[in-house]
Amino acid sequence: MSKTITRVRDQFPILQRSINGHPLHYLDNAATTFCPDTVLDKVYEFETGYRANVARGVHRLAAEATDAYESARASVARYINAFDPSEVVFTSGTTAAVNQLAYSLGESIAAGDEILVSMIEHHSNFVPWQMLCKRKGAKLQLIPVDENGVLDLSNLSSLINERTRIVAVTQASNVTGEMPDLGLLAQAAHQVEAKLVVDGAQAVPHGPVDVQALGADFYVFSGHKCYAPTGVGVLWGKGALLSELPEFMYGGGMVERVTPAGTRFLETNQRLEAGTPPIAQAIGLGEAVEWLMMLPWVDIKTHEAKLLGRLANELPSIAGLRVLGPALEGARLPIVSFDIEDCHPHDICHLLDQRAVALRGGHHCAQPLMDALDVMATTRASFAVFNTDADVDALLEGLHEAVDFLR
Ligand code: PLP
Repeated sequence: MSKTITRVRDQFPILQRSINGHPLHYLDNAATTFCPDTVLDKVYEFETGYRANVARGVHRLAAEATDAYESARASVARYINAFDPSEVVFTSGTTAAVNQLAYSLGESIAAGDEILVSMIEHHSNFVPWQMLCKRKGAKLQLIPVDENGVLDLSNLSSLINERTRIVAVTQASNVTGEMPDLGLLAQAAHQVEAKLVVDGAQAVPHGPVDVQALGADFYVFSGHKCYAPTGVGVLWGKGALLSELPEFMYGGGMVERVTPAGTRFLETNQRLEAGTPPIAQAIGLGEAVEWLMMLPWVDIKTHEAKLLGRLANELPSIAGLRVLGPALEGARLPIVSFDIEDCHPHDICHLLDQRAVALRGGHHCAQPLMDALDVMATTRASFAVFNTDADVDALLEGLHEAVDFLR
């Protein structure tokens, strides 16, 4: 194991765990991942040092909590290269952020308008738009996939037209690790003045993002998939667009003046953060992205490519195994889904769990993609910055043993 990865691993206390006498081989990072020491310490520091509500009190703890919360916002802005921290809105996660957009952007959607999503979306970036279309009498257009589950953008011009108002796509598939050509999608969306919403839930843990270079109008992600606590996420919007976005929830912390006759809202992004936000979690997220910005990404990417290369070479030795999605090389994430003839993913996951290999088996909240691939479920191994060759060894040995047992 390289020194870089050893140093990274040493920062995750949970990796000391063993199950059934085996060291933990955690390969379910696309579902959620762990927090390094520095994030745990930061949350502990808040809880024991300056726990207070934000943007309300004037006492010392309230001021310190507010400073830490706003500093987390600035860290997130740097990590995703937002133009300004005021473009960052904290939510409870990706799902909450997409729903917020589907309601607020959705206010201007009219019957006959079109919203374009893709067949590789997580349900969180599919169902809110489908429901919006239903509410407004709009049409949901779908970017199809080929027989491997890879997005087929060849007919994009026939899917986008002057009625298209929103294009909502993922930066990376949580099932196959595919990274769609967002440049092409941004260009096509902007040609007809549609807004591009990008789901960054899977991409954000794999290195700093540049929302401006991506051409996104809105960008969403969750903390728990990028080494931060659960219960926090981000909705980023381009300054001018965010300031035009109607309020979604109403309550404390987002108003300037309330009278029985009516309410005037704040003009800042706090207008979109009604109620007490996830303070400890957001502060943890700020620390997580600071930590991510310190990682040696060139080394980590080389290491990930090596692990994927091993899977590309060694998975085919399992008879009846089919890897879904794009080739296990090039511009993609280390998220690998496969189908093994006559072996149900739940059985595979259960058997590998006996060896402390944590995988995910199921539809991965991507049933449109499962249907297109004509499978009910897949087995998925998803890698984080702390995974090693030992995890790949345990996965491969476990798969061989499971397949022998099940057939
Ligand atoms: N989008 C993608 C691509 C995901 O992988 C997930 C979670 O797996 C989500 C959205 C939903 O994230 P959350 O459950 O944190 O809201």
